Amino acid sequence: AKYSASAAPAPQTNPEILYTGLFINNEWVKASDGKTFKTENPANGKVITEVQQAGKADVDKAVKAAKDAFKLGSPWRSMDASQRGFLINKLADLIERDRVYLASLETLDNGKPYTAAYYGDLAAVVKNLRYYAGWADKNHGMTLPTDGKYFAYTRHEPVGVCGQIIPWNFPLLMAAWKLGPALASGCTLIMKPAEQTPLTALYIAQLVKEAGFPPGVVNMLPGFGDAGAALVDHPDVDKIAFTGSTEVGKKIQRGAASSLKRITLELGGKSPNIILGDVDLEKAVEAAHTALFYNMGQCCTAGSRTFVEDKIYDKFVELSAERAKRRVVGDPFKPEVEQGPQIDSEQHGKILSLIESGKQQGAKLVAGGGRAGDVGYFVQPTVFSDVKDDMDIARTEKIRAGTVWVNDYNIFGNQVPFGGFKQSGIGRENGPYGINNYTEVKAVVVKLTDKNS
Ligand code: ADP
Repeated sequence: AKYSASAAPAPQTNPEILYTGLFINNEWVKASDGKTFKTENPANGKVITEVQQAGKADVDKAVKAAKDAFKLGSPWRSMDASQRGFLINKLADLIERDRVYLASLETLDNGKPYTAAYYGDLAAVVKNLRYYAGWADKNHGMTLPTDGKYFAYTRHEPVGVCGQIIPWNFPLLMAAWKLGPALASGCTLIMKPAEQTPLTALYIAQLVKEAGFPPGVVNMLPGFGDAGAALVDHPDVDKIAFTGSTEVGKKIQRGAASSLKRITLELGGKSPNIILGDVDLEKAVEAAHTALFYNMGQCCTAGSRTFVEDKIYDKFVELSAERAKRRVVGDPFKPEVEQGPQIDSEQHGKILSLIESGKQQGAKLVAGGGRAGDVGYFVQPTVFSDVKDDMDIARTEKIRAGTVWVNDYNIFGNQVPFGGFKQSGIGRENGPYGINNYTEVKAVVVKLTDKNS
C-alpha cells in the first residue's frame, strides 16, 4: 500500500454530486415515502448532501424490477454469456475513464486518503471487474458418465435475484466484489450501500446504465439497516451477500433462514500478526504498521494485534512507536497525508473508548492515545505494548483464519478466495470460489435409446 504520491493526478477536492436518488430499472427515482438522509464528510463533519432513503416499498419495487429482468426470455436472460462479460468490461472502462472523479468522491464521502483511493481502491475495482468479466463465458458445467442409458450433464445457472448489502470501509471495492461475480453468472441484483457512504455506489449505478446493462439488472438502494432487512425478508430474493459486522451477519442468517435463502457473509476479524525473531526488523515494523493503520484501521483484516518474539520485542515496540508518531494524519486530499478521519462520530467514539480501556486495564501506551485535532473524526495513531490476552484491546471482535499470509500482510488477489472461518463469515469472495456463490448447479439427465461408452 505504498504509492508515489507525486504521480497521482490531482484530485477534485470539491467533486460535483450528480446522483442522490434511488436507482431502479435504470431510472433515478425518489423514495416512496419522501424520506432522505444526510451523508457527511468525516474530515470536517459537514453535510455533503441529502440522499433519498429507501424503505420497504422501494425495496419491493426494486425486487420486482430485478425479478422481471431475470424472467426467462428477458434481454438479460437471453444474452450471450460472452456479452455479459463484454458489458462488465465496459463498466470497468467507464470506471477507468472517471477514475479521478470516483477516487475524489470516495475520499470526500469516506475520508480515506485520495492517493490510496486512486491507486489502491480504484485500481482494485477495475481489476476485479475485469477478472469476473472473463469468467462470464467460462463458468460451465460437466458431462457425467452416469449408470444406465442416460446422458447426464450439469449447467451452472444464475442463482437469481440477489440482495447485496455492503459496508463503508471500502465502498467502491465492496460494490465491485459483489457486482462482478453476480453479473458474470447472470444474476440480477439490488445493492444497498452503507448509509455512511452512498455516493460512489450511486455514481456506479449511472455507469451501469451507460455501459448498456438492461433495466432492472442492477438496482441501487441507498438507505439504512431497515432497507437491508427488507431485502433479507423479501420472498422473491434468492440470495443475500453481506459484508459487515458479525452482529448484523447473525441477524441476516436468522432472517434468511425462513425462506432458506442462499447467504454469504463476510464479517469482522481481529487478525493476529505474528513476527518472529529472525526478521528484517525495519521491514517488519513497516509491514506491521501498514497492516494495522491502512485505511484508518477500518479493515476486517486490520492487523490489530501484533505478536512479537521476546528477543526482538523491546526494539520492535520502540521502532513501532516511532513510526506511529511519524504517521501523517490530516486532510485526506493532501498527497502527503497517510491517514484521514474515521468514518463517523460513532466509530470515532468507539475507538477512543477502546483506547481508554487499554489505558485503564494497564497496557502501556507508547504512541498516540487520543483524538487528533478538534474538527472531524481523526484519531492519533496509537500503539500499546505490554498487552495481556484478556484486555479488551486484545479481544474485541474474534480466530481461526480464512487467510494466512506468510512473510507479508494484506496481500489480495482477484484470483484468490477471501473470507472468514467461524464467526468471521460464510462463503468466499473472489476467485472461482466467489462465482460459485452466485451459481446453482442444475443436473440434466436425458434418456437415451442406446448407450455408447
Ligand atoms: P459496520 O459495523 O461495518 O457499520 P454493519 O453490519 O452495521 O457494519 O453494516 C453493514 C451494512 O449492513 C450496512 O449497509 C448497513 O446499513 C447494513 N445493515 C445494518 N443492519 C442491518 C440489518 N438488520 N439487516 C440488513 N442489513 C443491515
